[in-house]
Amino acid sequence: MNYNKRTHTCGDLRLSNLNNEVTLNGWVAKKRDLGGLIFIDLRDRYGVTQLKITPDKKQLHDIASKLGLEFVISSKGMVIKRESINPNIPTGEIEIDVNELQILNESLPTPFIVEDDVKASEELRFQYRYLDLRRQKMAQNLITRNKVFQTVHKFFEKEGFIEIETPILMKSTPEGARDYLVPSRIHKGKFFALPQSPQTYKQILMVAGMDKYVQICKCFRDEDLRADRQPEFTQIDLEMSFVDQDDVFKVTENLMYNIWKDASGIEIQTPFPKYTYDDCIKYFGTDKPDLRVKGEIKLHHLNKIFTNSEFAPFKDALTNNGSISGISVKDIQISRKVIDELTEFVKKSGFGGLGYFKFSNNEFSGPLAKFLSDTEKESLIGEFELNSDSTVFILSGDYKKVCETLGSLRLKIAETFQLINESDDKFLWVTDFPLFAFDEEEGRYVGEHHVFTSPKPEFEHLLDSDKKEEILSIRANCYDLVLNGQELASGSIRIHNYEMQKKVFNLIGLSDEEARQKFGFILDAFRYGAPPHGGIAPGLDRIVARLCGVKDIREVIAFPKSTSTASLMDESPSIVSDKQLKELSIKITSEK
Ligand code: ASP
Repeated sequence: MNYNKRTHTCGDLRLSNLNNEVTLNGWVAKKRDLGGLIFIDLRDRYGVTQLKITPDKKQLHDIASKLGLEFVISSKGMVIKRESINPNIPTGEIEIDVNELQILNESLPTPFIVEDDVKASEELRFQYRYLDLRRQKMAQNLITRNKVFQTVHKFFEKEGFIEIETPILMKSTPEGARDYLVPSRIHKGKFFALPQSPQTYKQILMVAGMDKYVQICKCFRDEDLRADRQPEFTQIDLEMSFVDQDDVFKVTENLMYNIWKDASGIEIQTPFPKYTYDDCIKYFGTDKPDLRVKGEIKLHHLNKIFTNSEFAPFKDALTNNGSISGISVKDIQISRKVIDELTEFVKKSGFGGLGYFKFSNNEFSGPLAKFLSDTEKESLIGEFELNSDSTVFILSGDYKKVCETLGSLRLKIAETFQLINESDDKFLWVTDFPLFAFDEEEGRYVGEHHVFTSPKPEFEHLLDSDKKEEILSIRANCYDLVLNGQELASGSIRIHNYEMQKKVFNLIGLSDEEARQKFGFILDAFRYGAPPHGGIAPGLDRIVARLCGVKDIREVIAFPKSTSTASLMDESPSIVSDKQLKELSIKITSEK
């Protein structure tokens, strides 16, 4: 097809182009016929330009009358000054006085109108993703994603890292989540797995001497989906030899600094603050604290203050080794209605109610006030630094549950009273996680991070302990990067020693034989001069989502899966032919 190829994009033209003869190619985003005077908004990924067809141009009118939304056209004409300026778009001061118009392709009536404020359901947007991606907002998200990719490549090149690809077809190894499996045609009855992450490969690359590895890689986890999860997602995966935690922190902080600067022009503050896991639980009730909450709302633990309390719930908590803890909210009038809502909120976590008192003009009021002795009141004033109108909420019971619920209450209050500055970005490191948790259902220890994570040196000797509380007290050389209440990256200094790795495998319930069968390759590698090493893997989708100001990572992934883990556009997963199944020696025994 011969057609007039574009001289400019639909986002290019300004007053400085007045009287230029130009050609634009793009999609019809809007068409208005004002009694013979036709206006068309022509769109491409760079922007929108208004085309004007005056009533005297009969032939152009005939073509224009055929145009539907999303037709692809070529339009040649003169750049002229626009009468009614549109200050909302960069090309808003000009328009094109059209002399030639060609239809390059037609479009069926679209299932939804392609506009930023899209009205379509998510299902429809996913099914017709090519239309959805024509929206400027979506295009912008992909452009930001590309920016982050380029920064990552440039940054690591400068830092002396090597980008190395690792296989997509690999051995199924228990890494935490469920594997996606790929049957082998040649080796009947055997399966590859898609990598949950390139964890084992990157460690083996360290054994191979590639001491600074990086890869922007796809990871696959067969999990039930939540808004911030996808079955396939992208990580910036890195690993380094001869490093400690601080080295990993430094590289990661510099990476984040560069990403934020390139993608949004913001210079974030480094180094990031560090909190141990135990302190996170103690002060924020979560290992992913959102530090943007105004008013310094933190958890306070009040057992000491209430040692002599006669108030039954407090007495109960103290005799059962539990905790009495609270948070204070200052300078905000909290109505009875909101307190009722907050009470319902904590009841969902299994608490009978939410204790509270108010403090104003040096006076205590509210349901708890009458149970407080003068000494307790005095200590509470000191503990919460009460010096203005405040409400203090108190829960008592199991320490972890009290902390977690107060942590959620803190966020609920922040949301209710808009105490979070959404445009702020607050990073922090969380360190010293427990190495193991105990899985009650399976009756065994499980790695809190993954099984290659090393214990902190001062805890190494406890790997030989047969006491549960000692094993659970082991702290790991492991860290998370948290941003605004969300885990952005996870990593650790790894075990590089054959004997220690075997011990950890044994502790999580793998016999020597099972460990050999599942992880023999990495155990063997550790016997050929494995260097000390460690790494981290920031989640790229979450980073881009934050930079684009969206909560859902599917907004920054070109072709995401729906919440039912299906691709609505290409209708996968789909059935395959009997011939394909036969080649793989696979028989489907049930449809569901
Ligand atoms: N492979 C780990 C993960 O995906 C990250 C790491 O430890 O480097 O969580």
